[in-house]
Parts: sequence; C-alpha cells; structure tokens
Amino acid sequence: MRQYLQVKDSYPDAILFFRMGDFYEMFFEDAVIAAKALDLTLTSRDKGKEDAIPMAGVPHHAGRGYIARLTELGHKVVICEQVEDPKQAKGLVKREVVRVVTPGVVLDDEVLDPKTGRYLAAISVGPGGERFGLAYLDASTGEFGCTEVDSLEELGGELARISPREVLGDPDALGPDGGLSPVRALFPQLAYSEAEALAVADLDGIFDSALAGDRKTLGVAELPLAARAAAQAIEYARATQPVGALPLTRLHVYRPGDSVVLDEAATANLELVCTLMEGKKRGSLLGVLDRTKTGPGGRLLRRWLLYPLTEVAPIRRRQDAVEHLVGHHALRDALRDELAGVADVERLAGRVSLRCATPRDLGLLRDSLERLPSLVELLRHGIGETSIDLPELLRIDREPALLDAMAGLAAELRRALVDQPGAQLKDGGFIREGFCPEVDENRRLADGGKDALLQVEGRERERTGIGNLKVKFNRVFGYFIEVTRSQLDKVPDDYTPKQTIANAMRYVTTELAELESKILSAQETLQRREVELFEQVCAQVLEQTAGVIEIGRTIAACDSLAALADVAHERGYVRPTVDDGELLDITDGRHPVIETTVGQGQFVPNDCRLEPLSDQILLVTGPNMAGKSTYMRQVAQIALMAQMGSFVPAGAATVGVVDRIFTRVGAADNLARGESTFMVEMRETAAILAGATRRSLVVLDEVGRGTSTFDGVSIAWAVTEYLHDAIGCRTLFATHYHELCALSQTRPRIKNVSAAVREHGGGIVFLRRIVAGGANKSYGIEVGKLAGLPRTVVSRARSILRELEGSQKLGGGNQLDLFGAATATPPSGAEDAREMSGAEAEVADSLRDADINNMTPMQAMTLIADLKLRLAQ
Ligand code: ADP
Ligand code: MG
Repeated sequence: MRQYLQVKDSYPDAILFFRMGDFYEMFFEDAVIAAKALDLTLTSRDKGKEDAIPMAGVPHHAGRGYIARLTELGHKVVICEQVEDPKQAKGLVKREVVRVVTPGVVLDDEVLDPKTGRYLAAISVGPGGERFGLAYLDASTGEFGCTEVDSLEELGGELARISPREVLGDPDALGPDGGLSPVRALFPQLAYSEAEALAVADLDGIFDSALAGDRKTLGVAELPLAARAAAQAIEYARATQPVGALPLTRLHVYRPGDSVVLDEAATANLELVCTLMEGKKRGSLLGVLDRTKTGPGGRLLRRWLLYPLTEVAPIRRRQDAVEHLVGHHALRDALRDELAGVADVERLAGRVSLRCATPRDLGLLRDSLERLPSLVELLRHGIGETSIDLPELLRIDREPALLDAMAGLAAELRRALVDQPGAQLKDGGFIREGFCPEVDENRRLADGGKDALLQVEGRERERTGIGNLKVKFNRVFGYFIEVTRSQLDKVPDDYTPKQTIANAMRYVTTELAELESKILSAQETLQRREVELFEQVCAQVLEQTAGVIEIGRTIAACDSLAALADVAHERGYVRPTVDDGELLDITDGRHPVIETTVGQGQFVPNDCRLEPLSDQILLVTGPNMAGKSTYMRQVAQIALMAQMGSFVPAGAATVGVVDRIFTRVGAADNLARGESTFMVEMRETAAILAGATRRSLVVLDEVGRGTSTFDGVSIAWAVTEYLHDAIGCRTLFATHYHELCALSQTRPRIKNVSAAVREHGGGIVFLRRIVAGGANKSYGIEVGKLAGLPRTVVSRARSILRELEGSQKLGGGNQLDLFGAATATPPSGAEDAREMSGAEAEVADSLRDADINNMTPMQAMTLIADLKLRLAQ
C-alpha cells in the first residue's frame, strides 16, 4: 500500500489504475468514483476491519475500454504498470507510471476519431481579462498552434472551431471569479484543468527542449500570452508521457485575421462540422464534403472548412488542383484508390515518438510509405497521358530528398519486419528471417526443440510400450512425461517422479531436462532480441519523424483536394471566381446539404447578389417554412466553400473575399443551444455590430424574435439601419416582420426580396423561390392550417386577425412612426394608478428624461435594452 500511496501522491486529481497481477486496482475515493462511473462492484481490502479500504478493479486486458470511458466522462486516469516480472522480483514488484490519459490527451486509436484531431487547449488571460492567449495541441500527431485574441467573443469563436476536449488555465483564472469563468459558462461541457504557472523566464527553456527553438525563432516573441499558453500545453502534455516524447515538430503561430473569422454562432448555425440539433457530422457541410480516404486527409479538410482563407492566391491554388482532379476523372479515381491504402502516417509517427507503437504499426507505416513512389508516378504522369502542368499542390515530389529518405526508411522496415507483423510485442515473430542471425538461430533452436520433444515422445512410447504416454509442459515443472495410473507398471527406472496427480504420474528424464533448458533459453533469447531489434527500428523511425509527418501532410492535402473534386464532380458544383472585389454574386445557388436530402432535382435553386455599393442588404421576408433560412445559409456556405478552395453548388458564382462571417439566429429558431433569452440574442447582435467590417458577411435570421413584436420590430429596424449607415457590410436579414420592407424606401442599398408563395384555394403553396420585392402578408394562419390546426381554429384566427388589422397600425406596408408614441409626455399621475416598484420608478424617470429627438436608433435601442434589464432586476 505504501507504493500505491507514493504514486497516488503525485497524481492527486487523477484516478490511479494500479496494476496488480492481471488486474488494475483502484483504491479509496478513486474506487468509489470508478465503481460508480463504470458500474463496477465496490469491494474493500481488509474486509470486516474498521478502516477497510474501498477497492475496485478491472481485468487488465479490458483496461483500455474502461480508461476510455472514464476519460470521456472527463476524468484523468494514471496507468501504473508492473515493470518487472513478479517471478523475478526481489520483494516488492517495481511499478512505474507509464502514461496519464486525460480528456485532451488520448492516444488510444480505438477512442480517437480518425478524422478529428483530439485537442488539448491552453488559455492564458492577459491583465484585466481583455486579451487572451490560446494554444491547441493534438498529442497524437503533434499538431500544435497558438494565437492571441482581443475579446471573449473571439476566444469563444476560436474555441468553437478548435473544439478541444480539455482546457488548461492558471489556477486563479479557473477559480469562480477568475478570467476564465465566462469561458466555463460558455463551454460547460469541457474538462478544465490547472496549468503549471510559468514565468516568462521558463518559456525559452521549454520551447527549446520541445521544439529546438526559442520564442523568437518560433515567432511568438511578440505574443507573450500565446507563448505562455503554448508552453503550458507542452508542459502538461509532456507530464502525461513519462516514457515517450511528444511528436512535436512545429508551432503554427497564427492571427485571427489570417483566415475568415467565424464566431461561435456562425460555426454552429451554418452547421459546418456538425448539425445544430444532434451535433452529428452527418447532415453538416463537412458531412457532404468529406470524401477523404485517410485520417490525415479528413482532419485537414475539416481544418480547411473551419479556417477558410482570405487571400486570393492560395485559394486559387487549391481551386487549380481541384479543377485538375475534376477534369481528370480516371486520375482522380486512381488517386483515391491509392490513398485508400495509406494508413494514418501522422498518428503512426506520433505513436513511435510516444513509445506506444506496436510491430503492426511499423508494418502499416512501411506499407504506406511504400506507396509513395506510385502516388508520385500517378500524379506526374496521369493515366495514359503526360500531364504537363500539374497544379502545385498536387506535386508531392517537390522535395526529392524527403521522398528518398522515406524510401530508405521503408526499405529498412521491409528488411527488418515480416509482411504482417502482429500487434503484440510480447508475442514475437515480427522480425524477418535473415535480418539478424542471432534471431534466426534461436528461432530454429526454439522450433527445433519442439520437434525434438515430439521425437522424444514417440521414442519413449515405443521403448516403454505405453501407448498414451505424453510429453507435456506447465509453468511450474517445465517439460515432463505423463503416464496414466493404469500404465504405471511399465515405467522404466530412469524416469524421475516429479508429481502425482489424480489419475496419472509425472516424470522427468535427463534428456528431457537438457532439452528443456535449451528450448527455454532459446525462446528467451529470441524474445529479448526481437524486442531489442524492434526498439532499434523504432529509433530509426524516430529520426525521421519530422519527415514522416511532413509526408503525411502532403498526402493529406492530396486527399482533401481529391475529396473536394469528387463531390464537385458528383454534385455538379462549379468553380467560383474568387477575387478581392466586394461582389457576392451567385446564380442558381443551392444549399449543399439540403439539396442532398430533398431528392434529385427537387431543390429549387436561387440567385443572390450582394454588393456594398448598391445591393448591400437583402431583407428576406416571407412566411415561416418558405425557405428563408435555407436561402441565407446557402449563401454563407457558398461563400465559405469558395474561400476554402472548394467548388460550389451553383450555376455560377463570384465571391469577393469575405473577412468575417457572422450569423445570428433569432432565439426562437435557436433550439439547439438551449438558450432563448433575449439577452443572449442582443449580446450576440451587439457583438456583430461591433465586429463587422465592410468586408464582412452578416446573416441575421429573425433577430428580435425573442421579445414582443414592438420591441422586436424596433430592434430589427435599428440594427438594419446601423448596418446600412455605419458598417456597409454585405448582409442578409430574414424576418417575418414585413413592416421592415419599408426601410428600402429611405435606405437606397437595402433591397427587399421574399420567399414566394402561391395562394391556392384558401391555402398556400411554398414555391421556394426568392423573388424581388417584399412580402406583404405573413401567412401565419395559412402555415398553421398546413400544419394541421383544426378548421375551426383556423377560421377563428382569421377573424381575429381581421379585427386586429383594423385596430392597429402594425400591418400596413407603411413606414412605422416608430417613436411617435414615446415622445408624448406620459400622463401625469401615472404612478398613482398602481404602486410602482423602485426599479419601475427609476425606469419611468429615465424614460421621462430621455431626449428621444436627439437619439440615434442605436442609442434608443441601447436605452430600451438597458431599461428592460433594470426592470428584470
Ligand atoms: P423559413 O426559414 O422561411 O421558415 P426554411 O428555410 O427553414 O424556412 O425552410 C423550410 C424547409 O423548406 C426546409 O427544411 C427545406 O426542406 C425546404 N426548403 C427550403 N428551401 C428550399 C428550396 N430552395 N428547395 C427545396 N426545398 C426547400
Ligand atoms: Mg427560418
């Protein structure tokens, strides 16, 4: 128990899996937690005694599954193994922690999704909580990056894209009022762990040992918060790998503006990598685009989608490659076939570095590397043609020296390992014959020994006349001859009795004993040599880790490009024109996901033209279910696909590069996030108004819906004016407040479009066509009728509507006199009518004092929000 407590002492916050024989045992609090989480029986050591220790265990061969379950639940698990053979141990068996598994640092490929990186993130909070450094690290591949952001919104956006499983922060920042508490509120599902507090003076040493560079050479000298976060991620991840090294090769330092900035809402609402409702990849944009054949390709494509480019040249480079593969059908198919045989070389290299590679891993790595020459050949010469202008990104032969090195490594692995090495080091048999004479000789001895045993058996049967005499083996006595009781009288004198069992006797002979020692020592030598050689081979791979990872990335790019080409071809996408202009012009655009679900030819394509000088804002009106949201999302998704280098689902498209995409979906539509508070809606709207530039694309869907109609219309109105007057960004705004259509009369760059419906026999038919001009009716009742409201309810609703329309000014197509009512002085003595609360009286005062004639709509809106807030308190 002392040994246990010593280990446990170093890992107070983790569940310790303590190897004892064939089990991993857990004690104390760990046992209680694990028993509950894993549904294990909780027993106790020293049962019956007063201070019995709670205990639970799992068989070691099933350990992986249990560890995975615990880490998926957010726990950390420390694996402590017996590192010497208990038979040979003098006294206590030596044990060592071989690995710590945390939610963010997982290496088990049965747990890891091949096509998604598993990230650990570290956040360091700047003074005043205004600025943040963020680093992410995938320990399985060494993918490692960092950045700095200026606001909580940006941080949230980055975290949503990276989607780490575990976040590190300084202990005080993680505390209840610490700088990270807003992050915890925003991402409650993540595991949060304490990072080591690092001083600036520590950083260079950490970077140097992990990446052979300092802050300057790595490019983080000017980004102190990013540097700190990166160093914390390294330190934490490293501590989880006491026996191996992280496969770190480089640090990707980026700035948010290097790619399209997507806030958390945009990533979620546009359903880029998972659906809003179920969080599944199927049904998301990535679900449609991801036709990659390899893990690295899948991970890269995901990254491309989440980080669309903002510079035209690299976008066109990707487009060139996609176009080449769209045009060369046979080449694309052959390339994808070839890629299907390539394993996840990035993670394989990672496993070697982390010292958890198996012989089978090395075999897979070899087989994959051996495919490189044919990949190069294929791309260089195409199929039955000489392709002269291979697009740059498809030239995987850019670095011949690297390819040579990989060929050398593959040949070495081929020489050393058998064709299909097994997954267990201890099983042996993976070193190829001819690679090492000592291995060959001992293997012959061990095998030959077995033949000799059979010969002994045969000979002894003949000599003694005991037909059922057997040569057997057990761990305690080694080899022996077994003779059943009925035959005992035939046993010769030279047999030495060893053991009596129920109905037989066991004997040894000198010959057998000699043979035994030969076999056992040969087997032992064989096993030891194989392991040694395996380690040598691993060391060779280790030397080339950077190269292997580099090759992995090149292959990943080919895979992603081929995937994009494949969808483009199959779904009839076109190459969009991407330039530095400000036009967003889509002819016959389609929603990439919905078009796959509504059936062949059922999706109605729509045009969209946005341009800051003339068609800056499109107000999309129309009844519920008419197709407004679909239309707006498809426009944003097409812009985004264009900027990731993909072809797009449209007849033709021109995309003037967008710097940020913002989306805000009205509370009522935003089911998945489980929050419907108006406050959140307004906060996000405020963030859009603060963050959008003229180059941004803003998509507002039913904003203002989370409050009463008057508030809602007013806010929507003011927000639109602000986007028009102050920002000038390309905007799509869907609303069922058709009153907003009047805005186009006073604001020249606002255009009305609507989702057309046809009235038909007292009901409506959705045409799914976006047409010029605003809707002048909301058709809510007709939609209700379509949805199956009882006839009497529908007709009653119609008559109520007629009454309301008669009595209220909302409802015409005329511009609202928005603040007309408010400018009138409130009736004096209003306070007397009912006792006001303190807050209400305060609000009334503020209202009286407000000089509405000198307010911008924005100020009015802020005032309203503020007043409401005070009332809510
Ligand atoms: P709204 O936002 O106006 O309420 P949605 O955009 O949510 O409407 O569309 C409702 C449904 O109509 C979608 O789920 C989709 O099935 C269908 N739909 C929308 N646009 C189209 C289209 N262009 N072609 C075919 N079906 C469409
Ligand atoms: Mg909608």
